[in-house]
Amino acid sequence: MTVPFDVDAVRADFPILATEVDGRPLVYLDSGATSQKPRVVLDAERDFLERANAAVHRGAHTLAAEATELFEDARATVAEFVGASPEQTIWTSGATAGLNLVAGSLGYAALGRGGPDAAALAPRPGDEIVVTEAEHHANLIPWQELAARTGATLRHIPVLEDGRLDMARAAEIIGARTKVVAFPHVSNVLGIVNPVAELVALARAAGALTVLDACQSAPHLALDLPASGVDLAVFSGHKVYAPYGIGVLWGRGEVLASLPPFTTGGSMITTVTLDSAEYLPPPQRFEAGTQPVSQAVAFAAAVRWLGSFDAVAVRAHEAQLERRMRDGLRSIDGIRLLGDTDAAERIALQSFEVRGVHAHDVGQFLDSRGVAVRVGHHCAQPLHRRFGMTASVRASAAVHTTTAEVDAFLDAVSGVRSFFGAEAAA
Ligand code: PMP
Repeated sequence: MTVPFDVDAVRADFPILATEVDGRPLVYLDSGATSQKPRVVLDAERDFLERANAAVHRGAHTLAAEATELFEDARATVAEFVGASPEQTIWTSGATAGLNLVAGSLGYAALGRGGPDAAALAPRPGDEIVVTEAEHHANLIPWQELAARTGATLRHIPVLEDGRLDMARAAEIIGARTKVVAFPHVSNVLGIVNPVAELVALARAAGALTVLDACQSAPHLALDLPASGVDLAVFSGHKVYAPYGIGVLWGRGEVLASLPPFTTGGSMITTVTLDSAEYLPPPQRFEAGTQPVSQAVAFAAAVRWLGSFDAVAVRAHEAQLERRMRDGLRSIDGIRLLGDTDAAERIALQSFEVRGVHAHDVGQFLDSRGVAVRVGHHCAQPLHRRFGMTASVRASAAVHTTTAEVDAFLDAVSGVRSFFGAEAAA
């Protein structure tokens, strides 16, 4: 059932939003790092553990059957959230694990493991793996490792001064040698929605596999992964109002069918001898060992909760927060925005530098006003280097963020430079 969007009603769902920081109301603008959890999610996890907890897919007892049903129902619900089918939706412990699974599996494919089509997917010496300059380290280091293990070369699509990808360079870089193109749907530093269709078209023309890091888009944009044209995609539950320790790797059926498992062990096999094993089809082939069952059940509760709101109204709410945040920051002296462009769709996430004040000092000052933001390199050192900095401040909103909170944040930011005496120095 869709209910009208009412931010106060949404806020009432989050126990943590009643928190005070030194007597001031918490203004939580760090949802890009991890989201807060609505009560229905906390309840779903607890309820599962109190009523239905048992090992899934094995036991012959009633509780095990119930746990298995809830676990698989959760998979179907989360799959539907991204337009996918459950068979192509693999539980992981998070986006990092999903990306390591893909890169690791391709590394095994290069060693001859996997189905008959796996060899064609695997990078070889002379092949190229393409990422962007805007990667979170989770979508960079696994590819560095894969390149090092296979003898392939890692290349990157540069980021323009305004934060958009240099698509002219992308068209030059992605070519006959390209085996994999891995890119973020939305950078966790820039908040800019990247041109998925264009990148997919370039990769497809080159016969390359596409891997989408949907960590920052999944909480904010309606996703239809099969329709997006990408071959594989990952996201984390904890950024979509769900618990820690759960994420999703989605993949096209034919790609998943070819790839060898990355982790091996219990629950992913049909027959095991002392010398060899035969594997279950996806998704189980990629889910060795005990799974995050209560977290999966709560993940489903999170996407059901998010889906209960009118998606267009939520998007409009977050878009006006984004506009207000960016316009407000632009109007404050001494602020440099990272990725300041109107020429792309965006989420309500903005990183910036306060000239003359270290990002950590800005973070502490804002905290003293009750405002929680992220400071540092946000696991994106190459991107910060590209902009000539080592750290920035990042504010990121969520469905429960109000315009009054954005204003409180802007008010606090406008006091930073005078507090640190940076105005005189500038
Ligand atoms: N990619 C992006 C764009 C992210 O923002 C993050 C989390 N900061 C990750 C990957 C890694 O996600 P996780 O830590 O949940 O595995």
